[in-house]
Amino acid sequence: MASSSVENVVIIGSGPAGYTAAIYAARANLKPFVFEGFQAGGLPGGQLMTTTEVENFPGFPEGITGPELMDRMKAQAERWGAELFTEDVTFVDLSQRPFVVRSEEREVKAHSIIIATGATAKRLGLPSEHQYWSRGISACAICDGATPIFHGVELAVVGGGDSALEEAVYLTKYGSRVHLLVRSEKMRASKTMQDRALSNPKITVHWNTQPLDVVGEGDRMTGVKVRNTQTEEESILAVKGLFYAIGHTPNTSLFKGQLELDDVGYVVTKHDSVETSVEGVFAAGDVQDHEFRQAITAAGTGCMAAMLAERWLSANSLIQEFHKTPDAEKADSPDEVKESKEVLSAEFSIDETRHEGGYALRKLFHDSDRLLVVKYVSPHCGPCHTLKPILNKVVDEFEGKIHFIEVDIEKDPEIAENAGVTGTPTIQFFKDKELLTELKGVKPKSQYRQLIEEYL
Ligand SMILES: Cc1cc2nc3c(=O)[nH]c(=O)nc-3n(C[C@H](O)[C@H](O)[C@H](O)COP(=O)(O)OP(=O)(O)OC[C@H]3O[C@@H](n4cnc5c(N)ncnc54)[C@H](O)[C@@H]3O)c2cc1C
Repeated sequence: MASSSVENVVIIGSGPAGYTAAIYAARANLKPFVFEGFQAGGLPGGQLMTTTEVENFPGFPEGITGPELMDRMKAQAERWGAELFTEDVTFVDLSQRPFVVRSEEREVKAHSIIIATGATAKRLGLPSEHQYWSRGISACAICDGATPIFHGVELAVVGGGDSALEEAVYLTKYGSRVHLLVRSEKMRASKTMQDRALSNPKITVHWNTQPLDVVGEGDRMTGVKVRNTQTEEESILAVKGLFYAIGHTPNTSLFKGQLELDDVGYVVTKHDSVETSVEGVFAAGDVQDHEFRQAITAAGTGCMAAMLAERWLSANSLIQEFHKTPDAEKADSPDEVKESKEVLSAEFSIDETRHEGGYALRKLFHDSDRLLVVKYVSPHCGPCHTLKPILNKVVDEFEGKIHFIEVDIEKDPEIAENAGVTGTPTIQFFKDKELLTELKGVKPKSQYRQLIEEYL
């Protein structure tokens, strides 16, 4: 597990801050070692993987989707030689030099560290939250809004910041009405977002309103119990979905007691700098910024962190430079990803491993004797994006032995409804017309592999 060499710089996190730090450090020939993260504290690619259009990142006058922007940053970091590992860091020791950073799969020693672990969406902790999680309650409208259970029904969003309003506007595409539950009599959101939400005829704002619990029948939610914080009156708001957008907690539990954090847990950095209280450790992005919290400020501080790390390594004579040859660049170009393809009846071939769409699923469900691995996705769903390369590699290993079918639930809503899909990504495993099991969200490669082997 342990590696004897010492890295110049380890970057923890792969949001705009982590990838920008990786681009700058790689271009400075430092060959940065990047833990992109997996499940702790968000997704590889960070918070923008859960949004649709990013309209304010310079250089994209027509806007760009969050996942596409992050893909581009990742490709740029890889192109310059950053080494990326889709793993969560589970342990850090900043008390010894070189520093020690550990994931489930490896231990790395590093002369310097850039912390870019961002922030995580908060939960309300309602009494029935666990029971209705993914059965009506969601923390990601962009990931789950397109699922059939939310189509044509009343929905609620809790929160009063930009994210809450963006989610409310997004959900009007699917819900018949969106109730915005705001704790006080004003919102924190920007004026532009407030104007957009308040002028939307499908959005109703409930001021001074606090959710107390979720009510339901069986395993489907039917309403939110709310209290008016001024009159103390309690009532049930009949909605079939509740989306949380109540802010974030900085992902700093790994560093508690090892460097200075503020009262809320943000990493404290020196004025006008990204230096932390430990020399050689830098912090960039939302993990140290409770004021601006934007992709561009995260990227800006990521750049600062990489430049300061290089200066620090150089001043302490610790730098080891790596130069890429053109051949190495070619060898590092990303693998071609095999795509599933949507087929029309005339083109359908039962021998192919990969398929797409409702027609292929119906056909294979009835005619195939192989194990069917069905992936339900929706457009703009960040976790679906994250899952794609993970699952593609596993499917490659079982070429000719399974059928893999990708279903876009927006294009094939009735299929998703019949299959009881309540969020994306969802993977279902079928054999002999029987549903064997399903996995929701993004899991490690080994888990998909193990299930396929078990069911083959
Ligand atoms: C819905 C939504 C819409 C937004 N829209 C915009 C917008 O339009 N424009 C804009 O400028 N900003 C927008 N933002 C804000 C923007 O996304 C954040 O400011 C930005 O992503 C912060 O970047 P970051 O790199 O600091 O952290 P994050 O993006 O939070 O990334 C943190 C990274 O750290 C990783 N990580 C966490 N813990 C660990 C660990 N233990 N080990 C390894 N890795 C770990 C995570 O996997 C993730 O990759 C939006 C945010 C949200 C939620």
